[in-house]
Amino acid sequence: MDLYFLLLAFILGTIIGSFLNVVVFRYNTGMGLGGRSRCMSCARNLTWIELVPVFSFLSQKGTCRKCKTKISWQYPLVEFLAGVLFVLIFFAFPPVTLITGIITLVQLVVASILMVIVVYDIKHKIIPDLLVYIFAAIAFIHLFIFQTPALIDVLAGPLLALPFALLWLVSKGRWMGLGDAKIMLGIGWMVGFASGISAVFLAFWIGAAVSVAWMLIAFRKVKGHYEIPFAPYLVLGMYIVLLFGVSVIDIRPFLGILGS
Ligand SMILES: [Zn+2]
Repeated sequence: MDLYFLLLAFILGTIIGSFLNVVVFRYNTGMGLGGRSRCMSCARNLTWIELVPVFSFLSQKGTCRKCKTKISWQYPLVEFLAGVLFVLIFFAFPPVTLITGIITLVQLVVASILMVIVVYDIKHKIIPDLLVYIFAAIAFIHLFIFQTPALIDVLAGPLLALPFALLWLVSKGRWMGLGDAKIMLGIGWMVGFASGISAVFLAFWIGAAVSVAWMLIAFRKVKGHYEIPFAPYLVLGMYIVLLFGVSVIDIRPFLGILGS
């Protein structure tokens, strides 16, 4: 795929990322998605030059042009990551025919929803119900795009969500939120059962490594109940598997025993 096209994909991603920041900020606040973006400090309407993704943050050195209030790193970071994710999706799911084009579009929509879920989970330690159900619904429907899915692909969602739901039930929500089970439903339907297991393993390993690193760097005792948002790791695990074809565990012998 030529470089020019991937650059366009990146720019598209940063523009969508900019919109996703607005969704995260306004979700559940009753503000709606219409209306101009304003500086959160001086309430001044932003001009178009201040709305250019990533670039405006860098050129203004991370502050409001008028009142000089610091702007959160979340904004350029989400824009940049959305740009990178869009490039990787166009690379892994190139729109060549009508069918592959529909799949590209579905992947971009799913990526956008998942980015909002991840940023919202990091900020508020909760996975928005409506968004995670929309994600699961799209993931389920996507199985049927111009094909009849295998039974294992249809069962992948519930099979991968079940252990998380049990962890939630047994721990009364202390180890795992029910939102993690809901997101696994969609991840299972997006990548299938075998890859879904790889995604979960990757999520636990990366999550554990980051937590240990964080405790060592921060060098502090974790006070009382410390909640680690887990959805970001599950989504990261899913994309490592989906975009790079990484497989960390081979379940084929196990499936052979089951006679499938
Ligand atoms: Zn301002």
